[in-house]
Amino acid sequence: MSKISLWSLLPEELDAQLIQAGYKKFRSQQILLWLYKQNARSFTAMTNLDKKSRDELDNLYSLYLPEVAEEQVSQDGTRKFLLQLQDANYIEMVLIPGIEKLTLCISSQVGCSRGCQFCATSRLGLTRNLNTDEIIGQIIKAGQLTAPQKITNIVFMGMGEPLDNLDTVIKSINILQHERTLAFSPRRVTVSTCGIVPGILKLADTGVKMKLAVSLNAALDEKREILMPVNQRYPLAQLKPALLYFSRRSPHRITFEYVLIKNFNMAKEDMKALRAFTGDISSKINIIPWNPVPGSSWQAPSAEEVAAFQQELYKTSNVAVTLRNSRGQDISAACGMLAGKKKKEEQKI
Ligand code: SF4
Repeated sequence: MSKISLWSLLPEELDAQLIQAGYKKFRSQQILLWLYKQNARSFTAMTNLDKKSRDELDNLYSLYLPEVAEEQVSQDGTRKFLLQLQDANYIEMVLIPGIEKLTLCISSQVGCSRGCQFCATSRLGLTRNLNTDEIIGQIIKAGQLTAPQKITNIVFMGMGEPLDNLDTVIKSINILQHERTLAFSPRRVTVSTCGIVPGILKLADTGVKMKLAVSLNAALDEKREILMPVNQRYPLAQLKPALLYFSRRSPHRITFEYVLIKNFNMAKEDMKALRAFTGDISSKINIIPWNPVPGSSWQAPSAEEVAAFQQELYKTSNVAVTLRNSRGQDISAACGMLAGKKKKEEQKI
C-alpha cells in the first residue's frame, strides 16, 4: 500500500484518519504542530509520540518534499529553484524579495497545455497536474530554504494554469490558510489565470478566499487570440461577465496583468480597449515589460515606451495602474525556462 502524504491532508481529514486508526484526537494536533510550527521532517523528531506510534505512522504516512535540483540567484535577490518531484518530473518555484515582503511563486502543473505565446512553460506542453502534497510541499520546502525569514505572499503564477487543476488548488489553499497549519492570510494568496471562464465561476461559487489575477495582455480579441489561444475558447465577451460575477463575490480587487510587447499591444486602440474592458471591474492593472524568451520574435519595449504607456493609462483609466519590472532577468527567470533546459539536457543523454 502506498503511503498517504501528510501534506495532502486538511487537519479535519488527519483527525478522522487517526481516530479511525485508534489514536486519540489530540495526537493529530501534536503532529500538525510538529509539521507546521516546529519544522519536523521525520516522525523520529516527534518526541512526544511513543516509538510504537512513530513507527506505525511512518508506515502509513509520507513526509516527502520535492528536492532542489538547481538554484539560480539573481543580482536583484530573486531565487529560482528547479525542483524534482518523486516521479522525477521537474517544476519551478521562485522566491522574490520585496520591501518588507517575500513572495513565493509556485507551480500547479508539470508543464501547461494553454500555449500562451509569451511563456516558456507553454513550450513544454502538459505532463500532468500536481497533487496537493506537491503544491503544499513547495511552500514547506521554500520555508526551509528561507528560514528564519518568513514567506509573506504566495502566488500561483509558476508553471501551469491553476484553474486547470482547480480542485487541487482549492484544497491546497484551504490547507495553507487553515488556522491549525500555516494560517496564511487570504489577502496574501493570489491565483493567476489565463482566463478559464468555468474555473473563475467555480472559484466565485466555492467562496475560497484569495485574490485573483488575470493574465490579460490584450483587450482586443483578434490580438489576444494571437498571444493566448485560450481566448478562442473563452473570448473577452465571456471572460468579462465571469470576472464581474467573481468581483461581486470577492472583497478584493482583481489584478489584470498586461505584458507590454513592442509594436503589438501598446497602440492607442489597445489602451482604449484595455480601459473599456477593465473600467467597470473593481481592479488594478499591472503592466509588465516583456521579459524576452530565447527564440521568440516578440520585442521588449524601451524604458521610455513603457513610461509613456504607463503615464497615459494612469491619466485616462479609472483603475489603479502599477508597473512591475520583470525580476531576475540575469537568470532563467521566465517561468518554464529552467525546466525546459533540463528537459533538453535529459533528451540529449
Ligand atoms: S502563461 Fe500560464 S497559462 Fe499560459 S502557457 Fe504559461 S503557464 Fe500556461
